[in-house]
Order: sequence, then structure tokens, then C-alpha cells
Amino acid sequence: MRVRLRNPDREVDVPGPRTVADLLDHLDVLPHTVLVIDDGELVTGGHELADDAQVEVRPVMSGGAENTLRCVVCRAPAAIEEPRHRAAWCLAHYPDHVVGQVRKAIDHPPSTAHNERMFSYADRLLIAVSGGKDSLALWDVLLQLGYRVDGLYVGLGIGGYSARSQEITEAFADARGARLHVVDLAEEFGYTTPSGSQAAGRSTCGVCGLSKRYTFNRTAVEHGYDVLVTGHNLDDEAATLLGNVVRWQDDFLARQHPVLPAGGGNQVRKVKPLYRLSERETAAYCLVRGIEYVVEECPLVDGNTGHELKSALDVLEAASPGVKAQFLFGFLDRHAEKFASDEDDDIRVGACTSCGMPTTGEVCAFCRQRDAIMKVLPVTQATA
Ligand code: AMP
Ligand code: ZN
Ligand code: ZN
Repeated sequence: MRVRLRNPDREVDVPGPRTVADLLDHLDVLPHTVLVIDDGELVTGGHELADDAQVEVRPVMSGGAENTLRCVVCRAPAAIEEPRHRAAWCLAHYPDHVVGQVRKAIDHPPSTAHNERMFSYADRLLIAVSGGKDSLALWDVLLQLGYRVDGLYVGLGIGGYSARSQEITEAFADARGARLHVVDLAEEFGYTTPSGSQAAGRSTCGVCGLSKRYTFNRTAVEHGYDVLVTGHNLDDEAATLLGNVVRWQDDFLARQHPVLPAGGGNQVRKVKPLYRLSERETAAYCLVRGIEYVVEECPLVDGNTGHELKSALDVLEAASPGVKAQFLFGFLDRHAEKFASDEDDDIRVGACTSCGMPTTGEVCAFCRQRDAIMKVLPVTQATA
């Protein structure tokens, strides 16, 4: 097909047939900056263009005789754009956008009593870092902002994947002179994610999630940290919310918040300062800041970890940019009024009779799981 582009006026030949969305992708043109005209008629992204089509791609952004997006701060040509924010940034100003969103999350989290902050400069923070883009980006931002924040890496024993994650996390900490705690499941508790899940007959993600949450809280308690920080982002939280709504899990909805206060039974305060940023934004931040992170996904992901929920939301987001954030933020804004009453008749959390960590029963879920695992695994593997 013959495609006419403007500013400067030029024509290119592109093989077809292909959809308008495909063509724009091929030409590296951002869809919302242009109108596409096929044989004199305006067409949308899904329209199929024939191989012999005469197509015009006409820029619609006013304020310049060119179709380059410009940085909202300095007007230099932009490197990254976010349709959700209707904004674009140059490489120099992009990190400020990410830092600004994290700062906003820390200073003004939604629906908290007395507009309290997530944490203050007096608090000692422990951030759980996986070696992935989100937690490393967040650690970087918190260090830049001057918070007192140490890292915690949990070794899950997932072969080369865990080894690379740990290496990258240690290199990040070394380069910044930051303190990193490493807790290895095998050394500390006598099982790895794969061996534990096989022994307990539970999903790997289930064993892994429970072991991580437990280790985060316990390490924070043992070392006297005030706040536990995780790298859950906008995509994670929106997918979790959708899952909780789809199944109407009221108790999960009541507890889904970027700030969970400390509670009985050694429950440390938990916060998620990345809830305003998408994973695309944290990945871009790492690229721009030169932060190396583990790109590969966990090889054990077993399909029930919210991937379908994320894809469903991505479909909606592509059709109307910003809808994912609206979904999550709208829920959080209503959180206090919908769930505040639940706090009074909150289920009582006490200390596990076996390990002292928080539980609503006698023995915590972690200790019960570990007992089940240790009944099966060879005793020689148990060191704790
Ligand atoms: P995920 O559950 O893998 O989506 O991770 C959510 C958050 O948990 C991450 O952003 C980290 O803060 C934390 N996290 C995940 N895996 C680890 C790990 N192996 N060690 C420490 N923190 C982790
Ligand atoms: Zn700029
Ligand atoms: Zn316990």
C-alpha cells in the first residue's frame, strides 16, 4: 500500500494487507497523534487496509509543524509517552515523573485516617526486593528521596532464576552502599519453593507467596523495622482488585489498601508506594536510570497468578487509556466509607503459639504449612 505521511510530506510503500493499528505500529507512529484516512474515508485501528490501498496518516497534534511529541517539562523531543497521563517526557525529565508519583503516594495515600503519610523520614524501612523492575526502581527512588531504607531478598531456590535475581539485587545494593538482608528459604526453613510445594501438595505460587509474606514480616520484626515496603504496582493492584470483585471476596477487599497499619501479634505496617505507577512506567524508569533487573519471569508461574486478570484489564486499557487507574483509584477513594466500619469488629490477630508471628488462630498458616512440608521432606534438609 502507498502511505502518505506529513510534516515533512512524503510517501512510503508498506506491504499489506494489514490493520491500521498494525500500520501505525510498523511506522512507529503513536495512534492518538494521527488520523488515518483510507481512500478518502476516516478509519479506526481495527480497519483492514488492502494491499493496494491509498492511505494518508495525518498528524492532529497542534502546536508544531512536526509530529514529534514534546516533553511536558522542557519541550525537547520526548522519549517516552504515557497516554494515561496525556503526557510525554524526555529522558532527563522522565525520572522526575516517577519520583513524583511515588512521593504523592507516600505523602497522600488514599482514604487513610487523618490523612496520615505512608511513613516518615524518622521511620526505618525494609523493602522487599525481588531483583525485578518494580522493587529495584522503588528502592532507587526511596534512596534518592533520602529515606532510611534497607533491602530484603528472599532466596526461593528456583534454580538459575533465583541465582540471577540474587546476584542482580546484591549488585544493586553494593553499587549504592545499601544494606541488604538475604534470607534463604532452604537455609532458614529447610525447603525451597519447588521442594516445599511438592512435599505439601500445594501450588508453587501458594507455597511461595505464604513463605515470602511470612519472611518479610518476620525479618522486619526481628530487626526492628517500622515499615515493610513492597513493589506492588498499579497493574498488580488493579488485577488483584478485579479478582476480588469477580469473586466478591469482601474480606480481601477490606484489606486491599496501599497502607496496612501495624496490628497485634507482631504485625508490621505494610505499604505499597508504587500503586500509582504501571509496570511499563517502572520498566522505563529502570532503563532510563540504567538499573539492571531480571527481565525473565519466574519459570514456575502456574497460570493462577492473575495473568488472565491482567490481560483482561490490558484490553480495556488499550481501548480507553486510564481506565485501569480509574478502576483502582476509584475503589481506593471509596475505601474508607465502604470498609471503615469493618475495622471496629476486626478479626482479632494474636501471636502464633509456635513462632510468635501474627495469626487469627492458634498456630499460623506458615507454621502449619512448614509442618506439612517437614513431615515429607528428608529430615537432613531441615536446619531450622
Ligand atoms: P510478586 O508477588 O512476585 O508480584 O512480587 C510482589 C512484591 O513482592 C515485589 O515487588 C517485591 O517487593 C516482593 N518480592 C517478590 N519476590 C521477592 C523475593 N524473592 N525477595 C524479596 N521480595 C520479593
Ligand atoms: Zn524534558
Ligand atoms: Zn507460626
